[in-house]
Amino acid sequence: MIISRTRKELEIALNKLSEIPGKLALIPTMGNLHQGHLSLLTIAKKKAYKTISTIFVNPLQFGKNDDFEKYPRTHEDDIKKLNDEGCDLLFLPLNNKEVFSSIDNIKTIKSGTLGLELCGKIRPGHFDGVLTVVNRLFEIIKPDIAVFGAKDYQQEILIRQMAKSLYPNLELIKAPIIRADNGVALSSRNNYLSEPELEIATNLYKCLYKSSISYKENIDLKVIIDEAKKYLNSYNLSPDYFELRDENLNKINVNGYDGKKAFLGSVNINKTRLIDNIEF
Ligand code: AMP
Repeated sequence: MIISRTRKELEIALNKLSEIPGKLALIPTMGNLHQGHLSLLTIAKKKAYKTISTIFVNPLQFGKNDDFEKYPRTHEDDIKKLNDEGCDLLFLPLNNKEVFSSIDNIKTIKSGTLGLELCGKIRPGHFDGVLTVVNRLFEIIKPDIAVFGAKDYQQEILIRQMAKSLYPNLELIKAPIIRADNGVALSSRNNYLSEPELEIATNLYKCLYKSSISYKENIDLKVIIDEAKKYLNSYNLSPDYFELRDENLNKINVNGYDGKKAFLGSVNINKTRLIDNIEF
């Protein structure tokens, strides 16, 4: 695997790769890689001949009370994992300048009203930060394909909407959520949790799953959501939101919606916020 630490190195590596025919797939990450991230690479390798992963803890998507400073940075391990999985190129920028050139003159991409809902309500500006960096990576790398995880349901929809207008030829792939044996969705933030807290975290997935079954059984949606919040609170999981949304992120308030939809939940365990969803 080639590792590029600067834009110049990246340019040279991309030029070299462009001599090989076939599509290039991008997997953007913030590092601290687990099987969830690596599953994106596996999917990318089936769809494209060449793969590039990026590891960049994007400051623009962290608010001032977020965990930017303490976000786990495990470059040595990550490089080994990507190499073992057969990634062709890794862009691991040395600093912010290697991504944004001038931090004072960034082309900001706005996430609109949908970016202010759900996670955006709790983390103002978060999705503008996500779209801004993803747009920048698309600009620099010019991939044919990009893979994002269904774990970040709202993020995937916002990126899809942005790409539809700015990168109409780019193919986006949504990768399924990878879970631990106990059902907890893999996440770098799980590292902040103790064993007993991880055990409590299993109740988020249990609750999402139970709610999806209840909806299919036509139990009143209001009752499902009230019960879900009560259930989560009973485990001290204090939910920020628990909602049913369609695949364009419109809120569903009624029973009997037969299109693709997902229950989305965000909970807090002490100071760690976890998100998960179940699509059905
Ligand atoms: P992150 O490093 O958290 O920014 O995640 C990078 C990419 O990996 C995003 O597209 C995430 O949605 C995806 N991802 C993170 N966790 C999982 C998981 N458990 N299963 C599938 N994809 C995931």
